[in-house]
Amino acid sequence: DRNWRLDFVTDSFPALLEKLDRQEIDVLVGIAYSDERAQRFEFTAQTLVSNWGVLYRQPGVVIDSITDIDDIRVAVVTGTIHAQELLDLVGRFGLSIETVETVSYRDALAAVEDGRAEAAAVSRLYGLLYSPGFRVTETAIVYNPVEVRFAGPKGGDPRFLDAIDTYLAAGKTGADPRLQTHLAEVFGSQRGAAVPLWLYGIIGGVAVLFSLAAGIAFLLKREVARQTASLEASEREFREIIEKMPDPFYRTDATGRVILASPSCHDLLGYRREEIVGRNLADFYVSPEQRSKLVEAVLAGNGKPVMIEADLRHKAGHTVTLATRAFARFDADGNFAGIEGITRDISDRIAAEQALRESEERFQLAVRQAAIWDWDITADKLYCSPYLWEMLGYSEEEFAEVLRNTICSIVHPDEQDVFMAEIAAMKTDPDYRYHNEHRYRLRDGSYRWFESRGHCVFDAAGNPVRTVGMMIDIDHRKQAEAATMRLGRILERSFNEILLFDPDSLRFVAANEGARENLGYDVEELADMTPVDIHPEMTGASFAALIAPLRDGRRSSVSYEASLQRRDGTEYPVDVRVELIRESDRPVFVAIATDITDRRAKDRQLLQAVKTAEEANKAKSEFLASMSHELRTPLNAILGFAQMMDLDRREPLGPIQRDSIHSILKGGSHLLELVNDILDLARIEAEQVPHTIERVTVNDIVRECVDLVHTLADRRNIAISDRVSAGDPLEIDTDRLRFKQCLLNLLSNAIKYNLEGGSVEIDGGAMPNGFLRISVRDTGIGIPPAEHAGIFRMFHRVGANPMLSREGAGIGLSVTRMLIEQLAGQTGFTSEAGTGSTFWFELPLAGNSDVLIWTEELRTGIDPFDRDNQAMAGIVNRLAQLSADDVETPSVAGEAVEHARYCLERLEVVMEVCAFPDMEGWRLRFRHFTGELSTEAAILSERRDAESLVRYRRFLRSWWVDHIAAVDAGLAPLARGRDREIRRVLSNPD
Ligand code: ADP
Repeated sequence: DRNWRLDFVTDSFPALLEKLDRQEIDVLVGIAYSDERAQRFEFTAQTLVSNWGVLYRQPGVVIDSITDIDDIRVAVVTGTIHAQELLDLVGRFGLSIETVETVSYRDALAAVEDGRAEAAAVSRLYGLLYSPGFRVTETAIVYNPVEVRFAGPKGGDPRFLDAIDTYLAAGKTGADPRLQTHLAEVFGSQRGAAVPLWLYGIIGGVAVLFSLAAGIAFLLKREVARQTASLEASEREFREIIEKMPDPFYRTDATGRVILASPSCHDLLGYRREEIVGRNLADFYVSPEQRSKLVEAVLAGNGKPVMIEADLRHKAGHTVTLATRAFARFDADGNFAGIEGITRDISDRIAAEQALRESEERFQLAVRQAAIWDWDITADKLYCSPYLWEMLGYSEEEFAEVLRNTICSIVHPDEQDVFMAEIAAMKTDPDYRYHNEHRYRLRDGSYRWFESRGHCVFDAAGNPVRTVGMMIDIDHRKQAEAATMRLGRILERSFNEILLFDPDSLRFVAANEGARENLGYDVEELADMTPVDIHPEMTGASFAALIAPLRDGRRSSVSYEASLQRRDGTEYPVDVRVELIRESDRPVFVAIATDITDRRAKDRQLLQAVKTAEEANKAKSEFLASMSHELRTPLNAILGFAQMMDLDRREPLGPIQRDSIHSILKGGSHLLELVNDILDLARIEAEQVPHTIERVTVNDIVRECVDLVHTLADRRNIAISDRVSAGDPLEIDTDRLRFKQCLLNLLSNAIKYNLEGGSVEIDGGAMPNGFLRISVRDTGIGIPPAEHAGIFRMFHRVGANPMLSREGAGIGLSVTRMLIEQLAGQTGFTSEAGTGSTFWFELPLAGNSDVLIWTEELRTGIDPFDRDNQAMAGIVNRLAQLSADDVETPSVAGEAVEHARYCLERLEVVMEVCAFPDMEGWRLRFRHFTGELSTEAAILSERRDAESLVRYRRFLRSWWVDHIAAVDAGLAPLARGRDREIRRVLSNPD
């Protein structure tokens, strides 16, 4: 009420005294008054409380009188009056102690606790309040009564201390009760131990006595009396506390008779206190064992409290579960004096725990997404989790109504009997596993499938007590099952052959009706077979390679063509698609095979038609070749005689006749040139020109060609730059003359279709694909885009009427293309009208093992087979120029398979006609080859990688070369003289 603002300064005691000296604090609270200190500080006139010094000791150290402190270590707080007085006292008794200097009472007690000192001198008040927090024992040594007052610095503001004095005075006279209240608050129940204010005067007197050595005995007696009084006071307080304690308290004597009980015991057991006190504790226990357990535990606790849970009988008759914190009392002689206990009703807690456990279990089940039911059979109570009735579409009330009619009422009428039987079985047979699937009627009247699983618990007498279970909505599963069954029936009846086989063993695990009927095997037989057993052309390794992309997940399906072999040994071609199904826990391969006998037949007809057309074309070329030859003879005669007439000196011609003869000669030689060209072309096309393959140095040929066209170029003032002949030596295996012919064709075109003063550039080098490329670039008229497509066609000329053109007949480029292809190469060009063109060709470099150059050595002499083989060489070479990612690659590979089948079928027929030995073995070898080849082709078209392409090429080429050497050559002698017969069987495709 004076509006002081208080700043609390906390520090050690000596430091605080110094702060007071320096006027850093205005008021020091609770400092003992002494005359000496009064010289140093200002004090209040009034005293707050009286206090004195007390010694605390380590529990093991004996200090009964002042003389016992001789030669021991005593902790004192530096600068305190009690420290000073103790030293004076010790000096007066002629004793010596070792002081342990500390900065606070707390520190002093801690010093005793941690062994730095054996005893500590602290203020009585501090000790009362805080010593229970330390492992120290109070001694009987008390000394140096002092008055605790407030102090201020010398020269400080006197108003502070004056104001405090006013309060203290009012408090002492009782005019102001606040001081008493505050003290009570601070010291609490201990305040009885503190000397009342009005006593401080008496104590002051005692202090006088005390300071005399002779007064010690008296003081001790007083102290005993005081302690007795204080004990009585605390006993009173204890009883008071007991009266008010919310938790029931009791105390028994050694026989178990209750001698003290708090009123709250009534609340617990229903008995009044008077009814409890005097009765034996055992009377309240439900089971005697629990009661003896209590005594045992308490005795074992040896004075320390133990926790015991026990059931006691309430006056009303029911049982209450109590948790008791009990301990044994011992009398002064150490004999067991009885039990003391504070107890608490935990019936609710236990019930709650039980409920929690149960609901936890239910919850555990419920989290598994199932609806729970829990039927207490004894009490006939059915608990259903909300999920259950929600699942069925009912509200809680509606479902309660359902349950009143029994759950069976919503089971589908067709299934009610079975349902009841299952319930009965569950209740009577402990081994019965309740597990069923039923339709239940939903709130909206519709039915849905649910699966129930349950279990019945039986008591020791074998009576069903309780059944617990759960329900799962399986409607989707049921529908899926139905759909699967429908689908299964459809698949079963499908004409496609559907075969399932195991990923590990590759054995068939299922086959539909179509597959079983077509193959002629039944399910049992198939169970011991793998796809390799019904693919006569395949080996285990080739099949494994085929399905490898499915296993490693690179492809979702693999398709291939193959033959299937029936039980009776006959075969039929199929298109197979294989997938690995991983949906279920056991992955399985599914193969769907479609019979392609019809498609094969059509393909073969088509192939036959193509071959026939090719034959016809060849015939035309052959005709053309012989015709040209026939034309050349009379033409030579005409030219020869015209020349003779021109040169005849004896009968010289007139000027007009000479002009005519010159026209004949000019036109005739042009015609001869043309006929020669056509003859060459026809021969090449009819593949009648054998190639002579030799190692050639390209640089030399280029130089020769450039020399040959030089005059032509010079005439039109066209510069030729040759970047090849002087470069690194380039070697290839080819036909020298044909190479030269091709290059000359390109060079002469580049000059012919160039502008006056234009240029031609020859370039070339090895390509990464194993080919040599030679290109001829010109700065001529170019070719318009519309003409690009037909530029290599025979007799094709750009923008000209063939009859009018004087330049050429459109033969050069087609001859070039045909020759280059026969030499396992390819041709091409780029051109822009008005800017110029670049024509190029590629020929295999020496050592390119992917190509197959058709040479005399490969010819067998059996014409149809030579043609077949030559066509195969063409396919091999086309493949050699493709890369794995070219769009054409799979179809060219497929073409090779088709052509191989075609060739080998024709060959088989002829071999039979010629009675070729070991026909069966060859047939099998051929089938294996076509099988492997088609597998490789499938792998290639699935993977489209360089590795598969290289493998495919090598396999095809080497097999075919070996084949020509082994079979066709071997067949030639046998075929001699059978030409007619051979032609006949070959012309009949069936
Ligand atoms: P030709 O005997 O007519 O030259 P080719 O087969 O050599 O027969 O050429 C066919 C046609 O292609 C030529 O008539 C010409 O129109 C065109 N051609 C060929 N080479 C070139 C070129 N370098 N520049 C422009 N056009 C060309």
